[in-house]
Amino acid sequence: MAIERTLCIIKPDGVRSGNIGNIIAHIQKEGFKVLSLKMTRLTKQAGGVFYEVHKGRPFYDELVNFMSSGPCVPIALEKENAIAEWRRVIGATDPAEADPGTIRKLYAKNKGENAVHGSDSVENGKREIGFFFTEQELADLA
Ligand code: UDP
Ligand code: MG
Repeated sequence: MAIERTLCIIKPDGVRSGNIGNIIAHIQKEGFKVLSLKMTRLTKQAGGVFYEVHKGRPFYDELVNFMSSGPCVPIALEKENAIAEWRRVIGATDPAEADPGTIRKLYAKNKGENAVHGSDSVENGKREIGFFFTEQELADLA
């Protein structure tokens, strides 16, 4: 299997509930390499662009409002099979359907405010990491 990159975002609810550290602990326990991270706040416009694939869906406006409602923590991750691995670690979109021990089961409130983001493909992961991080910010600092 190939080394891949994925984008995690600790969403505004995850920041508000004081779970930045707990979520980063999961990332490290699961063996992901943290390439870069920051705390930032999306404007509505930027949130709309980030989630433009969902434009027109009934939850889109609420999602954009939520994602711009407070600071979030984007984290660029690398691991073998990272896309599927990170989605396994975070669990189903709706925490009610997420497996025990997953980040969303542990820390998410509901299907909208669900603590974390994960890219759904290698291609989208590249776009999403590039949305938040410059090449220099991703450069190996080791
Ligand atoms: N979302 C929502 N209601 C829905 C589906 C999605 O509020 O019925 C929100 C939720 O925050 C989710 C995001 O929109 O994480 C993106 O949806 P997607 O289906 O891509 O879920 P994910 O990939 O995040 O599991
Ligand atoms: Mg998705």
